[in-house]
Amino acid sequence: MSGGAAPAVVRRKAADTSRVVLSVKDLKKWFPIRKGLFSKVVAHVKAVDGVTFDIHAGETLGFVGESGCGKTTVGRAILRLLDPVTGGSASFQGQDLLAVGGDELRQLRRKMQIIFQDPYSSLNPRMTVESIVGEALTVHGIVRTTKERRERVQELLKKVGLDPVRHIARYPHEFSGGQRQRIGIARAIALEPDLIVCDEAVSALDVSIQAQIINLLQQLQEEMGMSYLFIAHGLNVVEHISHRVAVMYLGRIVEIAPSDRLYDHPSHPYTQALLSAIPETDPDAPMNPEQLQGEVPNPINPPAGCRFHPRCRFAEARCKAKDQPIPVWRIAPGHEMACILGEKIPGAERIGEQPGF
Ligand code: SF4
Repeated sequence: MSGGAAPAVVRRKAADTSRVVLSVKDLKKWFPIRKGLFSKVVAHVKAVDGVTFDIHAGETLGFVGESGCGKTTVGRAILRLLDPVTGGSASFQGQDLLAVGGDELRQLRRKMQIIFQDPYSSLNPRMTVESIVGEALTVHGIVRTTKERRERVQELLKKVGLDPVRHIARYPHEFSGGQRQRIGIARAIALEPDLIVCDEAVSALDVSIQAQIINLLQQLQEEMGMSYLFIAHGLNVVEHISHRVAVMYLGRIVEIAPSDRLYDHPSHPYTQALLSAIPETDPDAPMNPEQLQGEVPNPINPPAGCRFHPRCRFAEARCKAKDQPIPVWRIAPGHEMACILGEKIPGAERIGEQPGF
């Protein structure tokens, strides 16, 4: 662990809500389970099962949930790293993201990049920083000569807080975890993308380094105006960077709201439990009764009715009924949740339902 105090967190700039960059509707990605001599499909893992959201220009949408909730699958599906999807639609700057191929897809990929979780395995150990960061510049014809590439890589290294002279010829093993993630960020911004999927981009780092990387991402967003889909395990990680936060459970979004609203008024029992799971800074603080119990159920065979019911302290008989649809409510501007408890919230408007099991 680094012993230094966490740096002050940079304030996020407002997003341009008049411009939608990415629009995802009812996205589904199921993975078949095959068995037997003829590899017959006997079941499906419904990793993503009807997810809808938009991301605006310059916006960070936090995507949060425990392992296996489907958040990483959403990120990879929209980057077309998990073709084909099972259902739904996704458009990027008005273009049908799931239908394009060939050259069009190559052009779209230039505008959408990813930062991976593991700063150790995501960088080729046999390539220098110059090659790692500069590769895409050459592939996409942005630089023509070695000199041009070196100069551009040096600019990028400076932007992410690395030494453009000392670091450019080094290999990944010569860097700390935080520095490697800076290399990954330099690679991701090299093509000046409009959207970056940050796939657990700070989860493997110490807390103080996490804050530095989050600050860096916010500074880059302010300078370059790109949007982020920021995927993380815990609500504490996404709080300062996200304009809005979506909470996922077993393949579905159960609550989505502007960031400040979600932390002040968490309404879905799962969101409340995730918030209560954030470690208290005071060791004498009493144990929170909402603390999340048990494990995420097997996604091959999710619970009937509401998928969260075996872990929900408010579960009623109707939450457990087979095929029971779960109502979706708008409980404040931009704040929606899927839970029967919406009926008890004054002013909540029922806007749809999620199919039950
Ligand atoms: Fe809990 Fe029922 Fe709401 Fe599901 S629908 S979160 S089980 S109260």
